Amino acid sequence: MPIIIADGCLYRCGFCRVKSPLKFKERSRENIKTQVRYLKDFYGNDISNYNSVFIGQHDAINASADLLEFAARYAFDAFDLNNANLDGPSLFIFGSVDSIIKAEYAVFERMEKLPFKTYINVGLESSDQETLDKLGKGTTEDAVKMAFAKIMDINRRYEQIEITSNFVFGADLPDGHIKSFLEVIESNFDHPFHKGTIYFSPLINAKNIGWKRNIKREFFKLKTRIPVPSFLYLIQRL
Ligand code: SF4
Repeated sequence: MPIIIADGCLYRCGFCRVKSPLKFKERSRENIKTQVRYLKDFYGNDISNYNSVFIGQHDAINASADLLEFAARYAFDAFDLNNANLDGPSLFIFGSVDSIIKAEYAVFERMEKLPFKTYINVGLESSDQETLDKLGKGTTEDAVKMAFAKIMDINRRYEQIEITSNFVFGADLPDGHIKSFLEVIESNFDHPFHKGTIYFSPLINAKNIGWKRNIKREFFKLKTRIPVPSFLYLIQRL
């Protein structure tokens, strides 16, 4: 069940198909309560068949920890998730390079105590500056590397939190993209780990349309070198 606690996004990534024209701005607690009320009306008696909440929109980690915790706990109580027909309530959130770097560990301590298992997804896209520039992602490779190291540290510290990350995948990307990704992997792992899933999002355009036939083969080659779960993530039809 989706609740928006903040609108807008910190970036204007060139490849993004879902970007918001709005600047990042938190919503009020009253607005969040209204959304929850509408959702309760919308789901009616069927609400007991749902056990998960999405807290949006593009970067709820950039919102204040107080607002985030308020929304999660308010939704949990209002939707009566303690008595849902499905076990294991889950919370889904998007974060970003900058919001993950900026967030204090106290935020994750609080999240760990929520009555949810929390899944945060962060679009890192690349740890190579040339690729980031080509994508029009307004961040630096150093920031991406810092965010990735923090993501994996949080995954190791907190049992109830899993932060996953997205990287782009495509034939037209600079050679440094995969090379730098593998260096980041090497410097963050010395053995496999069950959390911290990495998703690869294929970039397909009119020029490289033939490449899509190779995606699975190329992805499986890469997957064997990644010590955490990894998957292709498709926002477009192949
Ligand atoms: S950070 Fe995410 S939502 Fe925002 S523009 Fe980039 S890809 Fe789109």
